[in-house]
Amino acid sequence: MEFRRRIQSQAPECGTRERQLSYAHFCGRRTGIMNATGLNEKLAARTKKDPRWTAVARRDAGADGRFFYAVRTTGVYCRPSCASRLARPENVRFFATAIAAERAGFRPCKRCKPDQPPLETRHAAKVAAICRRLAAAESAPSLAGLAACAGMSPHHFHRVFKAVTGLTPRAYAQAHRARRVRSALARGATVTDAIYGAGYGSNGRFYETSNAMLGMTPSAYRAGGANMEIRFAVGKCSLGSILVAQSGRGICAILLGDDPQALARELQDRFPRARLIGGDKSYEKLVARVVGFVEAPGLGLDLPLDVRGTAFQQRVWQALRNIPAGSTASYTEIAKRIGSPRSVRAVAGACAANALAVAIPCHRVVRNDGGLSGYRWGVERKRALLKRESGR
Ligand SMILES: [Zn+2]
Repeated sequence: MEFRRRIQSQAPECGTRERQLSYAHFCGRRTGIMNATGLNEKLAARTKKDPRWTAVARRDAGADGRFFYAVRTTGVYCRPSCASRLARPENVRFFATAIAAERAGFRPCKRCKPDQPPLETRHAAKVAAICRRLAAAESAPSLAGLAACAGMSPHHFHRVFKAVTGLTPRAYAQAHRARRVRSALARGATVTDAIYGAGYGSNGRFYETSNAMLGMTPSAYRAGGANMEIRFAVGKCSLGSILVAQSGRGICAILLGDDPQALARELQDRFPRARLIGGDKSYEKLVARVVGFVEAPGLGLDLPLDVRGTAFQQRVWQALRNIPAGSTASYTEIAKRIGSPRSVRAVAGACAANALAVAIPCHRVVRNDGGLSGYRWGVERKRALLKRESGR
């Protein structure tokens, strides 16, 4: 008797009927209980046979939206991926929709919020709103302010923003201001006007960061790369001719083709007023390193790159650099990875605008059905590169 009291006092205070029954069963009070236990066993067996239970047990986020499950004992319903403690199978019921679960009398779980759009969608919507704010902001808002706007802690917001856009909020704001400077400079505004128009509080701060954003000083950019020196050389690799160009910041072009003259013209079109200087002996060593990298991309290129492009292009190119050698991704997948699932065509456009062959591996992007699709430097080169990387 003493033993039984102790056991019962250990039963959870929110003890469910089912649990009390099994405790009682444990204590040996069998009369009239076998039926309930037998029923539970049957219910549990039925749930366990259901493939939806496997998804719940694995907290499979891929199953979210396909169905919901409710727990009789708590009166709450959840998404399959909910991180809350796994319910006992005999207490679980499945529903096709959240509405059906609510009609049956269940409340939405406070943790996985099954009555709201999925977490990713909610995050993407919040980040999109913040991006619009950053694009329009005169000066860079503080991280704390942005996080408050999104209703998250600064740390969580920073992580979510980066997961969705591929950039930190700070880098995103900088890229946008850089774009405003670029377009103002292209329209012919004075450098000072452009800087203040883009929300840089002081000239000094802009000049500190401008090399990183424009790849050259504002005056040089406005002059179409005038006063900027770009060294280049054309070499040979197994894919044909290769042009390697370097600005003061890093490798700014790797172009592939059949005709060395055409490659030099392509470089000239890109930097119409820069001073293009043919590479000397020491420069040829650098070209040799780039050629070595093109022949074996898996080894990686440990040279600084001078990557120029809009904020969107930079996001796409960063996503491309995250595709390891030997694997591929579709345009749709890249669009999803940068948090703009509808921008598939723009992703293709950014791939076509890439000036750093192989270093920004746009050749690893293929059609949804795995087909090769186009390549700026010819589909045969793309095929050869992919074959090389797959180790076949
Ligand atoms: Zn839940």
